[in-house]
Amino acid sequence: MKEPESILKPESQHFIEQAIEKDLSEGKNGGRVHTRFPPEPNGYLHIGHAKAICLDFGMAEQYGGKCNLRFDDTNPIKEDVEYVDSIKEDIQWLGFTWEDREFYASDYFGKLWDFAVSLIKRGLAYVDDQDADTISWQKGTTTQPGIASPFRDRSTEENLDLFYRMNEGEFEEGSRVLRARIDMASPNMHMRDPIIYRILKTPHHRTGSKWKVYPMYDFAHGQCDYFEGITHSLCTLEFEVHRPLYDWFIDQLKTDDYRPRQIEFNRLNLTYTVMSKRKLLELVKDKVVRGWDDPRMPTLCGLRRRGYTPESVRRFVDLIGYTKVEAINDVSLLEFAIREDLNKRAPRVFGVLRPLKVIITNYSGNVTEEMKIENNPEDENHGRRLVPFSRELFIEQDDFMENPPHKFFRLAPGQEVRLKGAYIIKCTGVIKNDAGEVTEVHCTYDPETRSGGPQAGRKVKGTLHWVSAAHALDAEVRLYDRLFSDEDPSGHKDTDPREFLNPDSLIILTGCKVEPSLAEAKPLDKFQFQRVGYFCVDYDSRPGNLVFNRTVGLKDTWARMNR
Ligand code: ATP
Ligand code: MG
Repeated sequence: MKEPESILKPESQHFIEQAIEKDLSEGKNGGRVHTRFPPEPNGYLHIGHAKAICLDFGMAEQYGGKCNLRFDDTNPIKEDVEYVDSIKEDIQWLGFTWEDREFYASDYFGKLWDFAVSLIKRGLAYVDDQDADTISWQKGTTTQPGIASPFRDRSTEENLDLFYRMNEGEFEEGSRVLRARIDMASPNMHMRDPIIYRILKTPHHRTGSKWKVYPMYDFAHGQCDYFEGITHSLCTLEFEVHRPLYDWFIDQLKTDDYRPRQIEFNRLNLTYTVMSKRKLLELVKDKVVRGWDDPRMPTLCGLRRRGYTPESVRRFVDLIGYTKVEAINDVSLLEFAIREDLNKRAPRVFGVLRPLKVIITNYSGNVTEEMKIENNPEDENHGRRLVPFSRELFIEQDDFMENPPHKFFRLAPGQEVRLKGAYIIKCTGVIKNDAGEVTEVHCTYDPETRSGGPQAGRKVKGTLHWVSAAHALDAEVRLYDRLFSDEDPSGHKDTDPREFLNPDSLIILTGCKVEPSLAEAKPLDKFQFQRVGYFCVDYDSRPGNLVFNRTVGLKDTWARMNR
């Protein structure tokens, strides 16, 4: 099978780079490139956002420009400073900086208000006293024009008076809105007199109760870009149909030739997960997962806790690229990216998830040897560490079979294996409990097969990892699998994605045994447990009670071990 890498070489230049270069070559915006990343602080960032972040900050970096962080905080009901803080942390974790350019749509509420007032004065906006359902019904359909509101031709004075009184808190939420007066027959539904201001009495996390009316996202977004001098406003494809509306607003607002250019690209979707913030929030609220940073979540804090590196996330985003075509990206490509990264950088250690005792009957009970073992066979610079070896060891239960099938190259009665970095041992017998289960495997070792010894090069078919029973540390290991067992859990009409939850997405193993060098491991430290997978220390980990998250399994274990 081909490696995903060779199937998916990132294209040399994507269409957004081409568009920016064309603008630069035509001397637009005086050669400036200024982008922004505009999250709504109503949830934690997920890997889809990473795709937008890498593009917004990446293009600015690439063309010597700037990228603003702007919180599009137009909806006080759903927003919270908790989200603002987490968003900043996640962007920095990915390796980007907005320097001193941290802005908020709420910084511009005054300017947006003034603009709305100017629209009213020019007969381009009006207060509608109808409720949301009526307004939505009157909008018509894609094949039928809308019906004009009976309030559409109100006088400027009346509109101004009502708009001011809306903001003074005189009217109930939902009783009135301000609408742009554009075209009720436009083939583009967004142009049919869209709502631009609504009454909300929930205090705002930044402006408190100063405002009683709030701009709609569509009214704020494009204008904020304009206020900030954004040259390239990069966003996902669903905003393509909003573009004529954004352009219409800017036409009314602009005083010279400058205008932000919106370019849309395809969203990132991942198999076996949901990506909508609303659905992710439900998983958190209903305790389906342990929080926003549950390692099964596609959030950046979840991926971080799982053991993903910022480099692997950026590499993945690079691999999938930017196009105009919606698609679902295979989560195994993300796993490929982290494996590739950790293969280079994660130190190798021994960890036994399901321990089985091995006793080397011809090895003295009073001796401990320190075995010098390489930390990373991919890179000698990682050095070597000492791993204690003694008479009683643990190996993986899976690595022993009393009655093995043909070609079982691990441990079995009468069979030899190499203990990685130590000796070749041979199984001489087993001890069983009353239930007939093997509780101890007895072996002899060949002293000449130690590294540097006369028989060090002797070939055996299998190599196992191990830990010394007396020296090993206890650990809890959390094994994660895909949260959903369906490839596209949101893709089923009328079926809640939770119908497709994978019951085995989290398996907690206790009584695992890891080598003593891990005693000092800190949360987010990453390791390869040789032959088992990549693991990351969890925030819950404490000295004496280590907790590891499995980031991803290993591929091609045997090929790697037997080289
Ligand atoms: P909401 O439904 O709350 O608007 P959202 O996913 O659009 O959710 P925002 O905070 O508005 O979240 O997103 C910030 C930026 O990230 C936007 O420019 C948006 O286009 C981009 N973005 C969001 N989801 C994805 C995704 N899956 N792939 C690529 N970009 C995304
Ligand atoms: Mg959005």
